[in-house]
Amino acid sequence: MYHYVKEDDPSFPNFNHLHIEDFKKQLDYLGNKFGFVTKKDFQDALESGDPPKGVVLTFDDGLKCHYDQVFPVLKERGLWGIFYVATEMYRTQKLSDVHRIHLLLGQENNQKIYEYLNEKIPQDYLVDFVREDFKKLTYTRQINDDFTKMVKKILNYYISYTYREKVIDDLCELFLKKEDLNVLDFYLTAEEMVEMENAGMIIGSHSASHPVMSKLDLETQKIEIQSSFSDLKNFGLKLSCKSFCYPYGGFHTFTKETEALLEMEKCRFSFNVESRDISKKDLTERKQALPRYDCNEFPFGQVRRIGKVHSSSYSI
Ligand SMILES: [Zn+2]
Repeated sequence: MYHYVKEDDPSFPNFNHLHIEDFKKQLDYLGNKFGFVTKKDFQDALESGDPPKGVVLTFDDGLKCHYDQVFPVLKERGLWGIFYVATEMYRTQKLSDVHRIHLLLGQENNQKIYEYLNEKIPQDYLVDFVREDFKKLTYTRQINDDFTKMVKKILNYYISYTYREKVIDDLCELFLKKEDLNVLDFYLTAEEMVEMENAGMIIGSHSASHPVMSKLDLETQKIEIQSSFSDLKNFGLKLSCKSFCYPYGGFHTFTKETEALLEMEKCRFSFNVESRDISKKDLTERKQALPRYDCNEFPFGQVRRIGKVHSSSYSI
């Protein structure tokens, strides 16, 4: 499982991403050590239940770098991949909150965002967080990393969901440029997806709005699944092999009912995040929850910031 795979961007020195050169090194490593499964062998295995030996590559969130940087590398090496796209952003013309948070955290000076939050956010916007905690951090000597961590915590956990989108809107207005937030520059376009599909890639659904599916009632889950597949169809994709990937991933993010909905949608297989190989049992009994590893569990897979290497990747 990969997310951002790209070159460094000097305007976002704190942006967590796998560097494209590390990606190539990791492909060398994976190819030598395990080999890659062809698309045909993978699809055959979905029928036969016998897992072939080797690696299947997946990429989440329909990011522009998957077309600009990953796709040329895969083509050059004769490889294929599965790309999971969330579709609601194409309707709202607005980057998802999760991705806007990545951009905010990736820019240069998180202390400024931190100070803004400290000054402007009323206490009733925050859940389980008190003003005192702001002060503690403000008056101890900090490095930018600590501010980044705090901003991340506040935006991901402490801001009440009632106000979160509005706060992120304001932060983006203040700290990002308009062009950083252009949907068709940040995500794959329909034309790019069609080109990738024609070149042998599989494009799959990553839901419409990238929710934690298990938090939704069944009817809403069904809408998330159906509308995302119909959006992909409307983009001009053939979807001859329908696949889904759970936003965030992990067994807490979906239920048996979600799996049943995917079966009803004639989805052939779905990916979860679980750190182990795909077994015969998975292929015969539970195709809507196939396990997969994060790229950071293998050599060269650590996310980078400019001048820094980190051990944890985003899982969104
Ligand atoms: Zn995601």
